[in-house]
Amino acid sequence: MQKRKVRVRFAPSPTGPLHIGGVRTALYNYLFARKHNGDFVLRIEDTDLTRYVQGAESYINDSLKWCGIMWNEGPFMGGPYAPYRQSERKYIYDKYISVLLEKGHAYYAFDTPEEINAMRDKIESENLGNPQYDAVTRKLMCNSLTLSSTETKKKLESGQPYVIRALIPENKEVHFTDIVRGKLKVNSSTLDDKVLMKADGLPTYHLANVVDDYLMKISHVIRGEEWLPSAPLHVLLYKFFGWEKQMPEFAHLPLIFKPDGKGKLSKRDGERLGFPVYPLMWKDPETGETSSGYRESGYFPEAFVNTLAMLGWNPGTEQEIFSMNELIKEFSLENVGKAGARFNPDKAKWFNHQYLLEKNSEEIAKDFMIIVRDKKYSIKQDKLTRIMSLVKHRVNFVHELWDQTSFFFEPPLSFNEKTIKKKWKDQTPEILEKVLQVLSDITPFNVSNIDKALNEFIEQHNVSTGILMTGLRICLVGDAKGPDLKEIMTILGREEVINRIEFALKTIN
Ligand code: GLU
Repeated sequence: MQKRKVRVRFAPSPTGPLHIGGVRTALYNYLFARKHNGDFVLRIEDTDLTRYVQGAESYINDSLKWCGIMWNEGPFMGGPYAPYRQSERKYIYDKYISVLLEKGHAYYAFDTPEEINAMRDKIESENLGNPQYDAVTRKLMCNSLTLSSTETKKKLESGQPYVIRALIPENKEVHFTDIVRGKLKVNSSTLDDKVLMKADGLPTYHLANVVDDYLMKISHVIRGEEWLPSAPLHVLLYKFFGWEKQMPEFAHLPLIFKPDGKGKLSKRDGERLGFPVYPLMWKDPETGETSSGYRESGYFPEAFVNTLAMLGWNPGTEQEIFSMNELIKEFSLENVGKAGARFNPDKAKWFNHQYLLEKNSEEIAKDFMIIVRDKKYSIKQDKLTRIMSLVKHRVNFVHELWDQTSFFFEPPLSFNEKTIKKKWKDQTPEILEKVLQVLSDITPFNVSNIDKALNEFIEQHNVSTGILMTGLRICLVGDAKGPDLKEIMTILGREEVINRIEFALKTIN
């Protein structure tokens, strides 16, 4: 049999910002497509007008682009199966729902919401089974199966609202294979007669999704586990249309669990535990409420992508750091697990730290320069690069570098009291007075000369290295912290070093 060309799609509904679970689905689709030299389609599933949110589609575009997840076909860019926005494909669904009606796999239903609720209440109160519109209950309802064809026609012509439902066969085994979960079997009697076409004339997710996957020649449907219960209906729809041979393979990705306790990771978990659940910051167009994003929190897109890649996929080795190209090479759906993946915000930070370490100091300096300029300081690029190389291992994010380096820009005006109490000894002022002369004489004022001069000073005057070095550090930094002291001194320059020591000697005590 000829192998099908790999064509996958990411099919979000623009109902709000894309949750990290959605980004992971997009990522796995992208990796799979790239690995198999296939196509990656972005399809916007916007047929539910009641859930449409302004700005959500452009948010999806921006998020994927930020992550480096690029599609080859989609809205705006077009492609051989355009349009890629379902709201622009209504005429297509009209045609296919007629096919189902003609073949007797779908029927009109005229029940009002009140009538449906009454049916559900009755079944529940009398304990008659599942309160759903199905092979049993449809017989009691107002639809084209219980009405005569003349009655049905009359109702349709009178403009009475109706939906079109799938006619699910009774007691049939529906078989399908899921790449992640293996062979699955569902009895059709457990399914309900899902609405395929709503009263507003637009298709539901199920109809539009299956028709589009077929027409767009999708070879693999890779999506979240929350869609697994819909898969048997989709399999039946392929059968109804006579498209079994073109049916895509399914892979349902495991859920992403909250960091603690049970259940799916939700927006509230992020708020509660202080981490973003969205790739980019999102401002709700209705309430104006904003939710934080990974980008704005200082994550590198590569680190974010790496974090998501590991949520459910296992490379089968100890390796954890993967570039996008490595992911494309290594990724396989067979190594995606069934069990939910627990989200660990600390691990996400750890990934960012690893990527920060991987970047050269020059690159980090470029990013950090923006923060320095924002604070109205100026510094030469090469000097900042040198500072970065001293401190980058101490932080997870570029913005955290300010806390580690602020003393390079602003001299300490006060000194940590606790540190002074513990580490500023009686002899400290005297030793520092003496060392001032030594510092004035060092030429050039660089790390090796400073090192040599301080060592000689310690020997000649028989002073404690600890007292001298900590004293100097307190003068220069304001506290007993910071990177290598000789490096600090070289970067600050002789004049600044001397000024700071003199100021500290006047101020402390
Ligand atoms: N529109 C669905 C969603 O919002 C797509 C599900 C699927 O991929 O079939 O996730």
